[in-house]
Amino acid sequence: MRVLVSGYHGMGNLGDEAVLAAFLQHLAEIDPHAECTVLSGDPDSTRKAFGVSAVPRTSLPAIIREIRRADILVSGGGSLLQDVTGALSVPYYLGIITLARLSGRPASVYAQGIGPLNSGFSRLLVRQVMSWASVITLRDQGSCDLLRRLGHVRPEPALVTDPAFALRPAQGCSLPAEWTESREASGRPVVVFCFRPWPSVDGREAELAACVDRISSELGVCPVFLAFQPGVDLPLARRIAGLMKVSSGPPAVIGCGIPPQQVLAMIAQAELVVGMRLHSLVFAAAAGVPFVAIDYDPKVRAVSERVGNPNVAPANASGDELFRVVSLAWADRARIRQLLSEIRPELEREGRQGAELALAPVMGKARESRVEKDGRKDARQGDADARRAVLLGVPVDCVDMDEAVARCMRLAESGEGGHVVTLNPEMTLASGRDEALMEAIRGADLVAPDGIGVVLGLKLTGSKPRGRVAGIELATRLMQAGALGVSGPDADARVGLRFFFVGAKPGVAEQAAEKMREANPGLSIVGTHHGYFQDSSEDTVLHMISAAHPDVVFVAMGAGKQEKWIAKARHAAPAAVWIGVGGSLDVLSGNTKRAPVVFRKLGLEWLYRLVTEPSRAKRMTALPVFMLAAIGEAFRKGRRD
Ligand code: UDP
Repeated sequence: MRVLVSGYHGMGNLGDEAVLAAFLQHLAEIDPHAECTVLSGDPDSTRKAFGVSAVPRTSLPAIIREIRRADILVSGGGSLLQDVTGALSVPYYLGIITLARLSGRPASVYAQGIGPLNSGFSRLLVRQVMSWASVITLRDQGSCDLLRRLGHVRPEPALVTDPAFALRPAQGCSLPAEWTESREASGRPVVVFCFRPWPSVDGREAELAACVDRISSELGVCPVFLAFQPGVDLPLARRIAGLMKVSSGPPAVIGCGIPPQQVLAMIAQAELVVGMRLHSLVFAAAAGVPFVAIDYDPKVRAVSERVGNPNVAPANASGDELFRVVSLAWADRARIRQLLSEIRPELEREGRQGAELALAPVMGKARESRVEKDGRKDARQGDADARRAVLLGVPVDCVDMDEAVARCMRLAESGEGGHVVTLNPEMTLASGRDEALMEAIRGADLVAPDGIGVVLGLKLTGSKPRGRVAGIELATRLMQAGALGVSGPDADARVGLRFFFVGAKPGVAEQAAEKMREANPGLSIVGTHHGYFQDSSEDTVLHMISAAHPDVVFVAMGAGKQEKWIAKARHAAPAAVWIGVGGSLDVLSGNTKRAPVVFRKLGLEWLYRLVTEPSRAKRMTALPVFMLAAIGEAFRKGRRD
């Protein structure tokens, strides 16, 4: 795919460059072959820093040419649609979206913040042009509310996490000499200070310098100033540093005109960050470094709240007050570090979801063309319909694994959605005495024979099963086929599906998701939830699933229970394929071992489970009862025939 990115890039603002770096990181994961061009204020440095192609952001011919070449325009992120820094910002960014739409290209608004919009003209433009966007993702609730207040209805804006939370530090690069030297010379832990000019700060340089002096001597740390937007922040940082009285000489003041991943690598080496600039705090959170937020704008407080960091100082805090908050943060830093490391996977996942949403218009197109191309799947689907058998009153489709995978893919890709049951003997028997279960199975779109017992039962009763479809294998195959952007022999078969895991004990679904992402690069798992929620929390779980827009939902709550739950929960994501997969998440997470291949080939997986989990003995009495019932049905059929 070819992506054109428009934003405040190549303009010397680290925050905007961080969002670009994170977007490119996600784009490479989603589609390693994607080509990206950036509209930049400094195309050479953008090219060099990010390894992408870049053209001047103000050259109309270049913009038109690049829009024509692109499959999609991604506009963002950052605070692009505001009219406080200049009257041209809003018409410029919206003009590019308009050009893209006029050229028939989808345009996604990506992780933007909207407002303040002081002029009526800006508000009118935003309301009109945003309705032409294909996807809108916004990074804060305030922006969503503002857009709604302007009268915007469609497309519905989605709230996303700042992509830079997912940014990874540069590895093995050399960091600025001032940084390395001051760390080595002081031998003390580094505290990073990141101020920006602001009415509450301007003119208070001496007070701030005294505060940093006190922090440095009383906490025994080495202060370093980072200027995130060097052109604006560097003079202020220099003034504060120049007024300090540290015996070891003035602290280092570093202008961050370097790639964001390198700044992140510096921050990762710090012990604490005291910051005003939003992205100094986002970087601290991304690197797992505790921070103190200086609350000059609601977005700064929002970041602290998002990661559960309690250390926030008011923008006009006196030197003493700031010292007090920093001391508290210092004393609490081990706990905050732990908290940040726990929340990091969630932030990474959310960051990636934002990029996936922004690219959804072109990912959907890729899918459609795959469905069209693969007419064979439909033909096989027709055959499968003709092979529906009935065993002990329960419908079973005589499909093999390839057919089951193809059927699930078709249901997921077409947005038709459905319910897939992998039927085992226990479930077959239980449905005889459990009407709700029988109804759920009868209402399913595909009932595949799982368990050697069902396959034997089908044979005994005169049907022609084509093989066994174990839930875990079906799940694994679907994830392989649904992982996007992987090169290799099967690359052509991959279509980019969004998976949701629900079931198993708390933590297991997350572990399984982690393992599956490692095993299937490009796999999109858009959410997980354990399977032990109370009825009162069911709505929350359904809301999570619905909001994640999955294509496939694996439900692992045990045979029978999961089928009934799917039947009533499916409405939460009607376009998704919901598949009951029993204990698969325990196995995929590595907590339980599957029977060795030799047991599986001999149809003795049940024996392995009986030996390794003797507590299942009672449940397994269902197997001989089922076989007897199947033999009984075979006799009855024989007599009738
Ligand atoms: N489970 C669940 N919620 C429940 C009961 C069970 O999520 O209320 C999970 C359980 O932790 C396990 C799976 O459902 O991960 C059932 O595993 P089992 O091996 O029993 O599956 P089956 O044999 O039914 O396929």
